[in-house]
Amino acid sequence: MAEKSPRYIVVLGSLMSGLGKGIVTSSIGRILQSKGYSASPIKFDGYLNVDCGTMNPLRHGEVFVLDDGTECDMDFGTYERFMSKPLTKINSITGGKLFQRIIQKERAGGYLGRDVQIVPHVTDEIKSWIRLVGTETKSDFVLIEVGGTVGDLENSYFIEAMRQMAREEGDKMLFIQLTYVTALSPGELKTKPTQHANRLITSMGIQPKIIMCRGDESLDKDAREKISLFCNVSLEDVFDDPKLETIYELPIVLEKQKFSERLLGHFGLKPEPEDLKGWSALVSRIKDPKNEIKVAISGKYTAVKDAYVSVKEALVHAAAANNTRVHIDWVDTEKLEKDDIKPSELLGQYDGIIVPGGFGNRGVEGKIKAIRYCREKEVPYLGLCLGMQLMTVEYARNVAKMENANSTEMDDKTPFPVIHIMPEQLKVREKGATMRLGAWECVLKKGTKAFEAYESEKFSTPKISERHRHRYEVNNELVGKLEEAGFIFSGRSPDGQIVEMAEWQSGWGVGTQAHPELKSRLETPAPLFVGFVKACLKRQKEKEKNEGKKE
Ligand code: GLN
Repeated sequence: MAEKSPRYIVVLGSLMSGLGKGIVTSSIGRILQSKGYSASPIKFDGYLNVDCGTMNPLRHGEVFVLDDGTECDMDFGTYERFMSKPLTKINSITGGKLFQRIIQKERAGGYLGRDVQIVPHVTDEIKSWIRLVGTETKSDFVLIEVGGTVGDLENSYFIEAMRQMAREEGDKMLFIQLTYVTALSPGELKTKPTQHANRLITSMGIQPKIIMCRGDESLDKDAREKISLFCNVSLEDVFDDPKLETIYELPIVLEKQKFSERLLGHFGLKPEPEDLKGWSALVSRIKDPKNEIKVAISGKYTAVKDAYVSVKEALVHAAAANNTRVHIDWVDTEKLEKDDIKPSELLGQYDGIIVPGGFGNRGVEGKIKAIRYCREKEVPYLGLCLGMQLMTVEYARNVAKMENANSTEMDDKTPFPVIHIMPEQLKVREKGATMRLGAWECVLKKGTKAFEAYESEKFSTPKISERHRHRYEVNNELVGKLEEAGFIFSGRSPDGQIVEMAEWQSGWGVGTQAHPELKSRLETPAPLFVGFVKACLKRQKEKEKNEGKKE
């Protein structure tokens, strides 16, 4: 259905941050796809960092990684999870990237004779970037999410570029205002803040055509009419964006309000028959599944719920595929470092344990104890990046008898550096975008649990590809010793030089140097997560059987 030139939809946040612009943008993308249109998202972030790679997950949430190695905002994960398509670096615009480009151009003499200004130079750069995404991705729609809130100094020049572009594109561009409608007391909805926010947007020369209202309560007729009248939009263009049990429900909830009919109508396009059936079936499985498992995640940044959002979502996808609800506890395994609490006390109630990615020393010894507990008690274990490295350390110390084995990230004097930094990484001094990043291929060994997991999800085995973000690797010089002790290396890079996956012989314990959670989508869950959930269910059944026997 590709049109010659794409159409543009801009999502602006108003009033406050944290209203779920990323989820709204992703849902719009999913709805458009279900109507047979292709869509490509762009996120603009005003900060002057070139990318998110150097940001602390405690402050900014997870760093998401794309196939091409771009380190970006976690909203990109939401886009990919909803729209089931891989994005690239052109989809992410940051203030830092933008100014870096302009300054490089200026130094190269690109603006000779001119003073370089926000208008027109920065705004022109923005417009041509956005148009490039449309043409390069051959999309029917480009969805532009403006980070932050209207009124922020940081995104003001970007919004100005959008105003200019709207004049140039005419009815091929449309703005959506996301807002929050407060309820002072139950049933007492207040729309005045939304009206003021709308006035701020119109004072910038932009007229939103659709208003999307977050709130604890559904909009009543009165509130809808007020928003329509004062914000100059049709009554049918005021949408409810309610609190939902699962974010994946939003496309369905919007479609119930005839969202695509209105949206496409504004562009003079006819709505095609809808196809959200497969999606709806998965959403019902999330909301009303047959089984339930309890999983512990032992992460360093568990204080911030957004720090491991892809791990959490990958579990939700894998659980839905297994008709299961997953109850996640963020467990602080650092407690295990003081000997007064036993792993079984802290972890005994869980059907499976995950150690996700992380950097630095803190809490590592507790995680190693938790991993040992899983191996000895055959509790399903999934190790993601750091989780795989520590699984190797644990095996080296406790089975292969390499006393004080460690990763050189934690102890650079260890006698057995089973995890170390690769020689080519040792030369690197800069911190930004210098890790092993992006998609890397891995060849899986037949007959292993990792192979089985990918094969049963119909991935083309043995060569698979997952995304990475790390500096340290398994030390090839100690691989032989570990294998002799029974540790299985189930995946390697195609040239055989880098270990990518490891596993135990008994039970279900798999570690991967990659972050498979970054490619998990509701419609195509990550195979290792599916394998892990299956193993949790199996162990739960066995445990129940054994307990039944005892009684
Ligand atoms: N700190 C480890 C490394 O750099 C693991 C990183 C991660 O878990 N993403 O290799």
